[in-house]
Order: sequence, then structure tokens, then C-alpha cells
Amino acid sequence: MSEQREGGCACGAVRYRMASDPLFVHCCHCLNCQRQTGSAFVINALIEADRVEILAGEPQAVDVPRDDGSMQTIWRCPDCQVAVYSRYTSPRALFVRVGTLDVPSALEPDVHIFTKSKVPWVQIPEGVPAFDVFYDMQELWPAASLERVEAMRAAASSG
Ligand SMILES: [Zn+2]
Ligand SMILES: [Zn+2]
Repeated sequence: MSEQREGGCACGAVRYRMASDPLFVHCCHCLNCQRQTGSAFVINALIEADRVEILAGEPQAVDVPRDDGSMQTIWRCPDCQVAVYSRYTSPRALFVRVGTLDVPSALEPDVHIFTKSKVPWVQIPEGVPAFDVFYDMQELWPAASLERVEAMRAAASSG
């Protein structure tokens, strides 16, 4: 199924592969994500930065202001400018934009967040957790993903 973890930009200059399944998949309905995508929400596959292998091209980092005054770094194809992934607070995790996968249906949201700004015509499927703002990772993430986060933190503190 490795081809299901490959994706890229519109012109084909940037190609990437996720080396494993993501940690968790967010569907974010916040106003920042709506503005950045020009759509109703974004779907982000959270994954360790070192598990995103660049197969072709060199995504270009663009700092984008968020409503809370912070910056979010979004990596775009230098040619067609399609955004392939972004980074929020942790430098060790990337948020791969699921719509840029070759098979965008390969990943479904594990959680819906910031539903307080969800557009009213989007219906969240029955049984998928949804939160007005954010949620408690310890409660929602599978044990294997939490272990991967611990491994990331351990690597960070050992330099
Ligand atoms: Zn491109
Ligand atoms: Zn968002």
C-alpha cells in the first residue's frame, strides 16, 4: 500500500512519500484553515517530520500569519505553489495535506476539530469524534501513536 502514501503538487515538481501511516488525521474547520485552503476545512495527516521523504523537488517554506498572531509555516511547490504540508508548533511533526495524496480517499479524519467555525452545510459522519475547539490527545490517540510521540520527545530532549 506504499503508493497510497505518496503524493505531490499539481505540476508534479514536488513528490513526497509518507514512510508510515500517520499518527492521526485531523479535519480542521478553523477559520485559518478555511482561509488558507479557500475551502470549508483542511484534512491534515500528522506525522513525524523525518517520515516525510521528499522524492522530487524542494518544497519552499512560506510563513503565514494566523489569527492568534502566531505563524504557521506552509511548504509549497516553488513552481505551482500548491501547499503539500505545514508545521504548527512542533518542529518534529508535519501536517501533510491529505488532498495532495495521489489517493486522497486513502485517509479519513480520525477527529474533527474547531467545529465551532464549521460551515453549517458540512455534516460530520456519525461516530467520528468532533470538538468545538481541540481535544485531549491522551484520550483519543491510539497507544501506538502516543508511543511514537514519546519517542519524538525523547529524541528532542537528547538533542
Ligand atoms: Zn508544483
Ligand atoms: Zn485549522
